Amino acid sequence: MKKAVVFLLTITVIIALIWLVPALIKLRRQAIKEKPFPLHWEVIIKQNLIFYKHFSPSLRKRLQGHVNVILAEKQFVGCGGLQITEEIKLTIAAISALLLLNERGGYYPKLCEILVYPSAYVVNQVSAVSNYVVQESKVVRLGESWSRDQIVLSWSQIKYDIENWEDGHNVILHEFAHQLDSESGTVNGVPILEQKSDYASWAKVFTREYQQLIKNVKRGAYTVMDEYGITNPAEFFAVATETFFEKPRQMAQHHPLLYNQLKRYYKLEPREWI
Ligand SMILES: [Zn+2]
Repeated sequence: MKKAVVFLLTITVIIALIWLVPALIKLRRQAIKEKPFPLHWEVIIKQNLIFYKHFSPSLRKRLQGHVNVILAEKQFVGCGGLQITEEIKLTIAAISALLLLNERGGYYPKLCEILVYPSAYVVNQVSAVSNYVVQESKVVRLGESWSRDQIVLSWSQIKYDIENWEDGHNVILHEFAHQLDSESGTVNGVPILEQKSDYASWAKVFTREYQQLIKNVKRGAYTVMDEYGITNPAEFFAVATETFFEKPRQMAQHHPLLYNQLKRYYKLEPREWI
């Protein structure tokens, strides 16, 4: 009898915690979102996010709220002698917050640290040549997203991307799209969608567009999306995200179905800003 009571009490506490922890996190985030947003922070964001000036007041407020939460929850680490500044943190937070404006509620849950190097950095890459032989080589990287808990970025690449919006490349959008993708448990180009019924049309459109990009790249045709997208479906999703935000008109014209999938997913219409 006593055992049964203890068991029941334990189950009750576990259920209460399962319900309580997310509710407390939500409340805490709501309070952080409401924090005043310093004027000079907004000046930095205006400088580094060219279409911010076209946002409605309510969209600006939402973006600022997300920036507050990202700054409160993520650790920014300067690497290779780089000193983390307000500009670096705000730029990364604001651009990555664009992908959260659909209010799904998650804040890149797997991500703990954002490592920033002054410029391109060199990593040792170990790749298998055969079952018994591995090859080690030095590879220059501009950014990468590790599905566990870190993103690595290059500040000089970020600055280049800021000055060249509309070229279809943005290392922050790319790496944070991988983070969204990883939330489903597998990095395969399919993030968590709103409804179960969304998966079929997503798979249909993305598969067709991915195969089309492979064909176009192989025959040397002009492509709106960067050819890096043919690497695999996960890279295709990251490149499609960059294109959606940086070349929305071209994407909507040449790839309307893909554009509509992303518009539905991000709940945004970037054509209104550019
Ligand atoms: Zn990638």
